[in-house]
Amino acid sequence: MKKVSVECRNIYLSYGKTDVLKGVNLLVHPGEFFALLGPSGSGKSTLLRLIAGFNRASRGELLVGGKRIDDVPPDARDIGMVFQSYALWPHMSVWDNVAFGLVERRVARGELRERVQKALDLVGLSEFGARRPNQLSGGQQQRVALARTVVIEPQVLLLDEPLSNLDKNLRVQMRQELLALQRRLGITTIFVTHDQEEAMTTADRMAVLDRGIVQQIGSPAELYDLPVNPFVANFVGTMNVLPATVTRRTDAAELLIAGAGVLYAAPDAPGAPEAATGALVLASFRPQHVRVADPGSARDQALAWLGGTVKSSEFLGEMVRYHVSVGDYVVVADQAHEAGRRPIAPTSPVFLGIHPRHIRLLESHD
Ligand code: ADP
Repeated sequence: MKKVSVECRNIYLSYGKTDVLKGVNLLVHPGEFFALLGPSGSGKSTLLRLIAGFNRASRGELLVGGKRIDDVPPDARDIGMVFQSYALWPHMSVWDNVAFGLVERRVARGELRERVQKALDLVGLSEFGARRPNQLSGGQQQRVALARTVVIEPQVLLLDEPLSNLDKNLRVQMRQELLALQRRLGITTIFVTHDQEEAMTTADRMAVLDRGIVQQIGSPAELYDLPVNPFVANFVGTMNVLPATVTRRTDAAELLIAGAGVLYAAPDAPGAPEAATGALVLASFRPQHVRVADPGSARDQALAWLGGTVKSSEFLGEMVRYHVSVGDYVVVADQAHEAGRRPIAPTSPVFLGIHPRHIRLLESHD
């Protein structure tokens, strides 16, 4: 099968007066497993449905395999879509559900049988052809929906929150299955999710969407390590983001966090080379890079320390997540849990240590 790219060029779409997509640009490479990640209402499904041909852009271009398809009707696009609800026919057997699209396309009986069998094998349901959808578990129904779509051998596979109807354990298992299936088929796949873990664990690359605007595109590690703004930083993992003023530039950047203290960013920290004295920036750092020390203990001088008060703590098993009030801000700090150690109690004074190499500076738009 020929692998194709999918490209959106400056796509705009409105429902009445509501602008839902505002200049979306993205290029999905041939054979890629690509995630559209964003909160509810950010326009993910709208974009997916637009690629499928169910929505029409008010401006912009859509290309598959380098060719414009804006005017091609959905059923002629060679794109398969799996809906969140699966939309299986309840009165038909699994076999007939999977065969449906081939019957519609008047595929000859011998070939049809072969392709349905192959699709059911692919999703591990070859023994279940005679069952009705309601005799299957949620995960199995999901696989039927997938088989029914891939049997058509579309050039592009679109998945709209494909795992959201499944419980947590099954979701984790199915996302690995989905990825394995995609790898076997090698088909360019775009899937929509609001679950960052799902996107991070499966996608080759992803686009983070907020209010109809693509905030950033990259591999999960790129987005995690080098988020371009606080939205991405907090959507892909958790990030502490504190407004700061650059008070001095030596090698490192000295950052005054009003009412809280001083931090330092390493000379080569992301965003640091551009930060001149006097600039307003956002000092950001991950919870796992914060060291929590009680006031009596020695403090490593390689780190910058901010004084604060424990607001609350959550025991997460392998770690304890603290929320610490520091001036007007709340800093999230994760500490590895050691068996038998009690979390630091709320209202306790603590110091938070952050190493300059763990600070990255984001642009402040205030
Ligand atoms: P997501 O998939 O990210 O949750 P959607 O693409 O479903 O977001 O929706 C984006 C925005 O468009 C939302 O504000 C939603 O209310 C609105 N919207 C979606 N479909 C319609 C529609 N058919 N008519 C009017 N508004 C819609």
